[in-house]
Amino acid sequence: MAAPARATPPVEPWRDAAAQPFVRIEGVTKTFGKFYACDDISLDIYRGEFFALLGGSGSGKSTLLRIMAGFEAPDKGRVLIDGVDVTALPPYQRPVNMMFQSYALFPHMSVAQNVAFGLKQDRLPASEVGERVQQMLDLVQLGHLGKRKPDQLSGGQRQRVALARALAKQPKLLLLDEPLGALDKRLRERTQFELVNIQEKVGTTFIMVTHDQEEAMTMSSRIAVMDAGRIVQVSTPAALYEFPATRFVAEFIGGINLFEGRVLSHDADAGLVRVQCDRLAEPVLARHTDFLPEGTAVSVAVRPEKIDVHEQRPAADNVAVGKVRDIAYLGDVSIYHVQTEEGATIRVQETHVERSSEPHYDWDDTLWLSWPATGAVVLAS
Ligand code: ADP
Ligand code: MG
Repeated sequence: MAAPARATPPVEPWRDAAAQPFVRIEGVTKTFGKFYACDDISLDIYRGEFFALLGGSGSGKSTLLRIMAGFEAPDKGRVLIDGVDVTALPPYQRPVNMMFQSYALFPHMSVAQNVAFGLKQDRLPASEVGERVQQMLDLVQLGHLGKRKPDQLSGGQRQRVALARALAKQPKLLLLDEPLGALDKRLRERTQFELVNIQEKVGTTFIMVTHDQEEAMTMSSRIAVMDAGRIVQVSTPAALYEFPATRFVAEFIGGINLFEGRVLSHDADAGLVRVQCDRLAEPVLARHTDFLPEGTAVSVAVRPEKIDVHEQRPAADNVAVGKVRDIAYLGDVSIYHVQTEEGATIRVQETHVERSSEPHYDWDDTLWLSWPATGAVVLAS
């Protein structure tokens, strides 16, 4: 997984019970006919966050963003921004701006005129407009291209013009719908870092919609995972990865092994649960603090990089044995698919520390796998 572009913020307001949220979404529901695009969503977002709404296509992300912007009215619920109920306010009366995936630049206007457009509408004095436009173009490193037309720019540059235009009016809150969706993969990755740097510089609260989990993980302070109009988990990227709350989140966020099984026993004092999995020979030991009665159907989730590979049986909390069925060499890591006799296919990741041109193991090699109890997560839903 890519290293996060953002340093861990020194303060994490969501941990502070006394902190006031900057954006508060209260029981928001939005239906189209009988279809629930947003289904009773409540969410608090704090000042200065780079917050991501992450989910598959059609999960309701854009609808929720449009409700915050005021382009869509909820059937039920409220939206508060900076303590003010804005639910009934039109978009232009909210301290909010939105950057659309299409960028929606005016093709007949120059870059500078595009950025100036909203400021002129607000009747800002001409001298101030010029100054603000230059400031914004410098911020996105386009200070020298103000006279160009949008069609004389690359995709990445157009994206930055749209960002400069969205920030020019100095909104308290910027909403971004798939802001990097039009860029190719390589440019996208570079632009992720730029966007985070700009957000940190201006300090504006950003809420971004994306379907790309790596993008959300790389850029955000926190992520809300959406599924079928509901929020299934809100966490920091690291917590989402390490402690997914449900199978859906576990599978959505990065590669993971899921083993179905039933609880054998739970030692609440030690915070350890033993699970007999259907497709593993030996019971799995995992950390889990909430009590789970014997017989509860659960999934055990283990990330590929938590699993160690051995040629002989190791001493470990959890051990499985199987044969290599698939190998992918990815340069920095190799991925092996190891199949147990009981029918589980276990994805294992081996990081190449030394330079070597070949994966260590071959098809049909017998491998022993081990992982610690702390490397497994038990999911009851
Ligand atoms: P996402 O951004 O997560 O892909 P959307 O919020 O755009 O999802 O849409 C969620 C669901 O609501 C989709 O199934 C979509 O077809 C439906 N939807 C969105 N807007 C409308 C609309 N104006 N009329 C009817 N259905 C809509
Ligand atoms: Mg969308």
